[in-house]
Parts: sequence; C-alpha cells; structure tokens
Amino acid sequence: MDKAENLDLTPAEARRLETFKQRYREETRALISQRLNHFQPLTGGTYTSVTIRDQKTRWGSCSSRGTLSFNYRLIFAPPAILDYVVVHELCHLTHMNHSAAFWAHVSSVLPDYRVRRQWLKDHGQELSVERHMEKRGIPLKLEETPSHKET
Ligand SMILES: [Zn+2]
Repeated sequence: MDKAENLDLTPAEARRLETFKQRYREETRALISQRLNHFQPLTGGTYTSVTIRDQKTRWGSCSSRGTLSFNYRLIFAPPAILDYVVVHELCHLTHMNHSAAFWAHVSSVLPDYRVRRQWLKDHGQELSVERHMEKRGIPLKLEETPSHKET
C-alpha cells in the first residue's frame, strides 16, 4: 500500500517533490558509481555508461552495448541491497541472461545474494520517495498545516 502516491499535490508541492527526487537521484548516481568501482574488479566486464532512471518495476538493466541502468529508488534500500543490484548488472556484462553460469558468477562475489534478492522482492515496493520522506518527517503537503492548540 502506498497511500502517499495518491496524495493530491498542488503544483508547488509537486515541483518541490520533483526537487527532492532530483537530489536523491544525484545521491544514487554518486553511490552507484562508487559501488561499481568497488565491484567491477571482482566481476570483470566493461561498461560504457551508467544511467539512473525513475522506474516503477525494474531495479537495473544492462544493454548489449554495455550501458548499465539503475533505479534511483535504490538509494532508499539498505546498502547490501543496492550492492546486490550493482553486482547483478555487472555480471550481465559477462552473461546476458539468467543462466546457471550467471548466478554462479553473482554468487562468487556475493555468496548470500539469494537473501538480498528475496529482500528486494519482498520490500522493493516500499522503496518510494514518498515513504522515505514520511519516515524522515519531511511533509509532502505544504498547506493544511495543523494549528497547534494550547492545552
Ligand atoms: Zn538480470
């Protein structure tokens, strides 16, 4: 359930949310590029570019031209989960499929990848900017601020 996404945002609130998303997107880009540098020597493979996208369903992808794409919402995931997606896409540079050889490659870098993969299946839908802001106590709505009553 993601009630926040159904909130009726005013144009100003929507623009503000967009600014937050942009900031998180930049954070994702910085962190992912750091983790790619960390894991690439372990997985091998050569990527040509990295894109950060706002996608509903996919966490990452790897094109035959060597472009790696990642979902910006990974910034809201625990670091171990982001690492799993990074390693998964890096391994696709060698295996463009989900063959046994692909999973053996992933497992050679992250022996506990199954647990991380399962976490993403179970909790991935919870990784939204709205929920993240709610957790941090950052209001999505700017108007209708409740008046504080003296008691
Ligand atoms: Zn894959």
